[in-house]
Amino acid sequence: MMQVELKKYRIEEITNGFSEDDNSSQVIAMGGKLDIRPKYQREYVYDDEKRDKVIDTVLRGLPLGVMYFVERDDGSLEVLDGQQRLISICRYADNQFGIKLPDNIVHQIKSEAVFNILHDGDKEKFNNYEINVYICKGTYKDKIDWFETINIAGEKLEQQEILNAVLHSKWLDDAKTYFSKRNCPAHRVYSRYMKGNYIRQDYLATAFAWAADNEDIEGKGRRGKIENYMQKHRKDQNAKELWSYFESVFSWVKKAFRNYDESMKGVEWGYLYNVHKDELLDPDLLAKEVKNLLEDSEVTNKHGIYEYLLTNKERVLNLRGFSIQDKTTQYSKQKGICTICGKHFELKDMEADHITPWHEGGRTTLDNCQMLCKKCNREKGGR
Ligand SMILES: [Zn+2]
Repeated sequence: MMQVELKKYRIEEITNGFSEDDNSSQVIAMGGKLDIRPKYQREYVYDDEKRDKVIDTVLRGLPLGVMYFVERDDGSLEVLDGQQRLISICRYADNQFGIKLPDNIVHQIKSEAVFNILHDGDKEKFNNYEINVYICKGTYKDKIDWFETINIAGEKLEQQEILNAVLHSKWLDDAKTYFSKRNCPAHRVYSRYMKGNYIRQDYLATAFAWAADNEDIEGKGRRGKIENYMQKHRKDQNAKELWSYFESVFSWVKKAFRNYDESMKGVEWGYLYNVHKDELLDPDLLAKEVKNLLEDSEVTNKHGIYEYLLTNKERVLNLRGFSIQDKTTQYSKQKGICTICGKHFELKDMEADHITPWHEGGRTTLDNCQMLCKKCNREKGGR
């Protein structure tokens, strides 16, 4: 059961023991009990104006929005929402910047005023200012729900960021060094094959999803599988296994489809690798076929070419269909009679069909179009 508790913290309680580690970019406060910037949180991106606004609000004694902390298993806390406001407050209390004082503060220095120069009474007011915090306790499943609730209001975390937050481990940190750290190997070496934002964990999520599929891990949807994969491997010493799996995916890709084309970006290569890795492929023939398909104007989904060549599923190519004009023209030509069953239908009850199918060289042109009733078209397609 998830528990949520509303607590009030005085600023002084929070800023006590504030420290920032430039190397690890960790920020802690509350005498070491509060992790302001857990690993999954984004960099401090507040601009000065927003930063100053937070301090201005506090000095005026006006309310700040509620913040959210999560209680960890060991009783320590991490910030889920409020990171940027808290860092602004802590840095101000640490005299790292000054602001233009609001009218209610009587002081000779009006601008660039750091905390230290405030009169004792104003310092005290600042230190005693109360911040409202919701604290969430519960299992990691509860936390996922909680994160998703917060997401509606606060800054949006991606699904994978949420999973990383609640399932953090040494193994996961190691996986991130391969897949989501700035300038990580997955980005340096494979970004031309991968889609999404690696910093926001898209590559990591993709690698997890592929590896989960490779290990036949069950789960509800892609996300459920990723979650179960993370659960299974969470205690692993490091993520070398995942990385070497990922590398084998692409060494297979490069062997099978040796000429790079932009359409290769964003293909679900892992899923293809998992199924087809042991098949005997002819790279010369494949290269020729890829070239033809790339040039074929009937193929509207070029990303589907690779899957098509491995599976023969035409639907992944999203072949061109007949236009409304072609359909209407052909319908009147046939006077509404289905070419196969010879019965009459309304236009809305008929479908356009390629007389010679695409794989036999048929094009999407009026002279290759016939209107069939839905039933006949389905039966023809099923043959
Ligand atoms: Zn018919």
